[in-house]
Amino acid sequence: MKNQRPHKWYYPTWTTKKFTDLDPSSLKAHNIKGVISDLDNTLIAWNLKNSDFMAKQWINTLKDANIPVIVVSNNNRKRVAKAVKNLDIPFVASSLKPLPFGINRALNKLKLSRNEVILVGDQVLTDLFAGVTARIKTVLVDPLVESDNWNTKINRFLEKPFKKRIEKAKDIQWKIN
Ligand SMILES: [Mg+2]
Repeated sequence: MKNQRPHKWYYPTWTTKKFTDLDPSSLKAHNIKGVISDLDNTLIAWNLKNSDFMAKQWINTLKDANIPVIVVSNNNRKRVAKAVKNLDIPFVASSLKPLPFGINRALNKLKLSRNEVILVGDQVLTDLFAGVTARIKTVLVDPLVESDNWNTKINRFLEKPFKKRIEKAKDIQWKIN
């Protein structure tokens, strides 16, 4: 392959626009048996209280294909429980990403091994680096909305140099089927 940038430790395994790109057949093609998803700005806009129909439909499609979804969020239990209530999926709140503990708990709940799951998230410093510390595959998605909570704004600034380099790495784009 020509013009391919050497793989860096901070690259996600894949990049794509939105969680809906991750359909059962392409997940299965990569031998993915479970999905660990971030919540805010990955599955639901950070400033909305409840998840929407798109998220519900995606999760049901995956469930029907025997691919469970679990949410791992750094946000508090109250926020996460309310946001995922209508999705009927398990979650880990206050997960301390980029540390691996929340991911490890999710793996235990899913009863899957590290090479059988992906972590889907919109932030480099929390989600992507949690994937690195927990040694699992990652998909970096675009944030659902442009605005951010104040603490995320700091992370967005710090992740900029990583994001620029990741965007240039064409070989990590998720290909549908
Ligand atoms: Mg997020």
